[in-house]
Amino acid sequence: AEAEDLLEVNNIEVIYNHVILVLKGVSLKVPKGGITALLGGNGAGKTTTLKAISNLLHSERGEVTKGSIQYRGEGVANLSPSDLVDRGVIQVMEGRHCFEHLTVEENLLTGAYTRKDGRGAVDADLDMVYEYFPRLKERRRSQAGYTSGGEQQMCAIGRALMSRPETILLDEPSMGLAPQLVEQIFGIVKRLNEEQGVTFLLAEQNTNVALRFAHYGYILESGRVVMDGPARDLRENPDVKEFYLGMS
Ligand code: ATP
Repeated sequence: AEAEDLLEVNNIEVIYNHVILVLKGVSLKVPKGGITALLGGNGAGKTTTLKAISNLLHSERGEVTKGSIQYRGEGVANLSPSDLVDRGVIQVMEGRHCFEHLTVEENLLTGAYTRKDGRGAVDADLDMVYEYFPRLKERRRSQAGYTSGGEQQMCAIGRALMSRPETILLDEPSMGLAPQLVEQIFGIVKRLNEEQGVTFLLAEQNTNVALRFAHYGYILESGRVVMDGPARDLRENPDVKEFYLGMS
């Protein structure tokens, strides 16, 4: 049986500053329980797509001017990022965004702020996060600002997990990380998907690694989806091989 689509983006257009048309009709679907990758080069529109979904465009003077976005069949246009968290969708932004002056553990706990199920459940989830990211446990009393780039990326994902999300929108997890760490982080994403059932939509320039871990991919070029398919097919596609897999 086909998995239910949690998220549906239908033909959206995004304009920045009233004039700059950046997304020119993007459509995609994110099935429950899958890892879906949004691929493409610098400036293709990956981050803009994720921000459109989680309603983070306003602060950038961006606007969805056409099309619609639904999560579990409900339009998200009037939902704030925290409304979305309540519905199970959380975004991990590019560049990580931990609170530098808080410790790693304090950062993780800020991710649980919307929860109403009490300290016991939150502690259990902290243990769960530490099980996936043993490195964060070792560093739990360190100020986040003094941890490495890889640790900060782990901290940002861990913090998102603390809200018990159904879906994580993950922007460029490989950015600035050494290849070995990229492998490690993608390996954890895969385990979270398989063991905790977390659905992922991830934006990634590193086509190579993304297509090894994702189930399905969409390739964006200049604000349009130019190709999509099962990751296995995209990996074998001659155009993808020539234009994307050689790159990283
Ligand atoms: P990257 O990997 O660099 O983040 P991306 O595929 O995520 O690339 P976007 O960040 O979505 O691409 O950017 C798409 C286009 O929109 C780019 O041409 C970019 O210059 C432009 N853009 C992004 N943010 C703004 C903004 N606030 N105002 C005007 N143009 C913007």
